[in-house]
Amino acid sequence: MAALIADQATAARERAVWELLAQVPDPEIPVLSIVDLGIVRHVRHGADGRLSIGLTPTYSGCPATEVIRSSVRNALEKHGHAQAAIEEVLSPPWTSDWLTPEAHRKLAAFGIAPPEGAVSSPKQLWRATVVTCPRCGSRATARVSEFGSTPCKAHYQCSACREPFDYFKCL
Ligand SMILES: [Zn+2]
Repeated sequence: MAALIADQATAARERAVWELLAQVPDPEIPVLSIVDLGIVRHVRHGADGRLSIGLTPTYSGCPATEVIRSSVRNALEKHGHAQAAIEEVLSPPWTSDWLTPEAHRKLAAFGIAPPEGAVSSPKQLWRATVVTCPRCGSRATARVSEFGSTPCKAHYQCSACREPFDYFKCL
């Protein structure tokens, strides 16, 4: 019985940390939280009471990774988890399949084409993929530039509605 209550308390504490992390925005696309992105692998209270957070980078070398780490660190410190360990989880590697349905909805609402299909590498993704216009849904789109407003975005234009838009190629 005591063990069960302790388990429930741990679960509640872990849930609170998940909620905290859901407030940490992705630096590339601030409408998405890092939980929407699917890069938070675990939140665990160990038997010793120590909190550990597992994060998976979207791809190695993405400049956002360091920013995300320090945002998570700040959020944890602000809420009394200064002792938390942030672990980098490299396996399995992140794929766009880990984006939550909520993330797809938010991306489309933000005017960014969500990634289509599973990919093994971001480069392969945006060279080969047909990108759907986030505004009108047309698949008749063309890449205008390899780089959009940030290095993780490519700039596209829709041939149907003529609207330019960003495609998030790091996802
Ligand atoms: Zn369009």
